[in-house]
Parts: sequence; structure tokens; C-alpha cells
Amino acid sequence: MIERYVEFIGEHELNAIFKYAERLRDLSILHINSTAAGGGVAEILHRLIPLMRELGLNVEWKVIRGNEEFFRVTKSFHNALQTGAGSIPREYFEIYDRWQEINAGEIPLDYDVVFIHDPQPAGLIRYKRRGVWIWRCHIDISNPHPEVWAFLKRYISAYDGVIVSIPEFARDDLDVPQISIPPSIDPLSPKNVPLPRATVDRIVRKYGVDPERPIVLQVSRFDRAKDPVGVIEAYKLARRHVDVQLVYLGSPASDDPEGEEVYREALRAAGDDKDIHLLMLPPNSHIEVNAFQRAAAVVLQKSIREGFGLTVSEALWKRRPVIGGNTGGIRIQVIHGVTGFLVDSPKAAAHYIVYLLKNKRLRREMGAAGREHVRRNFLITQQLRRYLMTILYLTG
Ligand code: UDP
Repeated sequence: MIERYVEFIGEHELNAIFKYAERLRDLSILHINSTAAGGGVAEILHRLIPLMRELGLNVEWKVIRGNEEFFRVTKSFHNALQTGAGSIPREYFEIYDRWQEINAGEIPLDYDVVFIHDPQPAGLIRYKRRGVWIWRCHIDISNPHPEVWAFLKRYISAYDGVIVSIPEFARDDLDVPQISIPPSIDPLSPKNVPLPRATVDRIVRKYGVDPERPIVLQVSRFDRAKDPVGVIEAYKLARRHVDVQLVYLGSPASDDPEGEEVYREALRAAGDDKDIHLLMLPPNSHIEVNAFQRAAAVVLQKSIREGFGLTVSEALWKRRPVIGGNTGGIRIQVIHGVTGFLVDSPKAAAHYIVYLLKNKRLRREMGAAGREHVRRNFLITQQLRRYLMTILYLTG
């Protein structure tokens, strides 16, 4: 199976992966995150873990447990860390700590290497007995809420290494080795493999969308950081100039309790426009997401904050130009004027929607550039190789 990546990355890169893996075979490795489905981290782990196992690595994946209260706390931390704002009640810190203790009692932590993904399980480090612990941060922590960061920093400082998604997220106030490794997409996953045109059309029609008319798409959880209302505003402005349908495709994630509320905000913003399709699909609707990304003429990722935004690479890989919020990891995927456009407002997004919908040739050129950009930089094999190198470095 892993040999099948050779068509994308060549022999040289593949051999490097085998070579690194060979040296790590005796280690036990554990990944811990906060949801089994929904959101980018689960998406990556579902693909990465089997690949690591195929390479002969002894790797496991565990998901922490929590009640609704805990996930409200972690979501508020998540928002506060990314926006720098918000007021956090005192007891939230205690609730966070309590659930770390509960999870530490249930998840065996006796591994040579432990990857802790994101802030939700970061406090487990207090229960470390041995091994190399790496905090893999997928969010933007460049301008965090001071109190939440101060709280979390006590834990993060105890790690052996930190991985962030782009160099700008590395922090001066951490005395821990930090490395930047961008997330990645799997070209062989059901979400990204080629689909026949007939399948794409059938799926799109099934959800009441017309594949013969232009589609602008955003795929995202209903999260304010993804700016669903801004997406709708951009569409409404663009529609004055071009024929277009908007599809916003979201799905719930068990560690994100705000989805319902934000979904309702989006419904209100949409009003009764029949060309706006706000779809809430079950997590793991990979073929559906794949089909909509292929059916779209233009893909939006109008985030206000974004650690990386796998959806950007997913769309670029399918040769779709992306109009992305000018923030965080979107900036390394959307090269302005080459693979898409970076925007700071719904008005600018609308401008580029119209521009791209009117210019098929440009869409094609940008699509080709986008695919190549992802092939070179954001495929899972590259992330895998860098993870293996990091383990070697920190355990060596
Ligand atoms: N996703 C999905 N269905 C949805 C919404 C999102 O399958 O309705 C997937 C999307 O294709 C991507 C991941 O969830 O693989 C979201 O990752 P991203 O990094 O874009 O954002 P996050 O949710 O982690 O903030």
C-alpha cells in the first residue's frame, strides 16, 4: 500500500521513509487527541496511524473522554487561544484539570514516545512517567489569551518537544525545542481519490444542488473561526454579478459543542435563498466531501483564524482555486494570485468569486499550480517523514 505513493513522491522520498522507520521499530508510540471523528486532527490520524503500522511501527491512538462541560471548557480555551479574547471563568481551569486526571487514570501512558494533539489533552503531561512527550499543536497560538496561555504553558513547558503547523506559531516564551511541520492530506484516502464525473453529479443532485450551474463551496465545521456568516455575505455580494450557488458543508465534531448554535446563525444569515445550501452531513462523509470539492468551480476557506485548514489542500489537490482568509496556515497553501487569493473581508472574497467564475482559463491555471503546490508540500508522506525524523531526533 505505501508503495502506491511512489507515483506522487518518487522513489527517493519513499526510501527515506523506509529508512527512518527501520530505525524506530523498537519504540512504542502513542497518539492522543480529543475526537475520533470531525475536524482535521482526526482526519489525519485516521490515515497516518495505519501508514505508520504498515511501516512496522508499534503505534496506537487513544481519544480522551470528557462530558459536555469539559468540551465547553476546551472549546472556550481553543477560541481564547486563537483570538486572544474572551473571559474564562475560574472554575474552567479546575474542570480541565479534573478531566486530565480522569483520563490519565484510564489511558495507559507507558510508551517510548507520546504525541499529544492540541490543548484538550495537553495536561496529561502531569502524569508522564517516562518516554519522550511531544505536544503537537494544530491551532494558531501566536496571539493567545494571556491567562489561558499562562495556564497551558505550565504544561507545555514540561514537554520534550513542540510541533506547530507554521513557523510563525512557534513561541519565544517556550524553552522547549520547537519545530514546524505542516499538516497534510492523503491522496489515496476516499476524500481525495479521483471520482467519476457521474458519481460527482449524482451526489451533488442528491442534495438538491444543480451540477450544471456554478458552485462555490466551503467545507468546514460550523465554527465562528471559519466565518460561515462571512461566506454567506460574500456569496450574496457575488450573486449580484454572476449566476452561482453556495454550498456550505459542515459536520458535527464530538469535541465542538458550538456547532448547533453557529449552524443556526448561518441559517438566519442565509434567509430563504434557494441557492444557499447549508448541509450538515455525518462525520466521515468523505465521498460526499470529495464530490462537492470536485463539483465546485471555486472553493472558499474564509477563516478568520486557522491553524492550517486541511480543506484548502484538499481543494487545491483537486485543482480548484481557493479563496482563503489571510490568516495562519492558509497563507502557506494559498499563494496569492498563483493557487488562489487571500482575502480579509467578505467584499474581497466576493470580488474574487466573480473574477474566477468569469475566467475559466485562470481557474484552470491556478488549479494546476495548486495541485503541484500540494504535491510538493502537503502530502501525508512528507508529514510522516518529518514526524519520524522528529522522533529520531528527540529519542536519539
Ligand atoms: N470535514 C468533513 N466534513 C465536513 C467538514 C469538514 O469531512 O462537513 C473534514 C474536512 O474535509 C477536513 C477536516 O474535516 O479534512 C477539517 O480539517 P481542517 O483542518 O480544515 O479544520 P478543523 O476542523 O481541523 O479546524
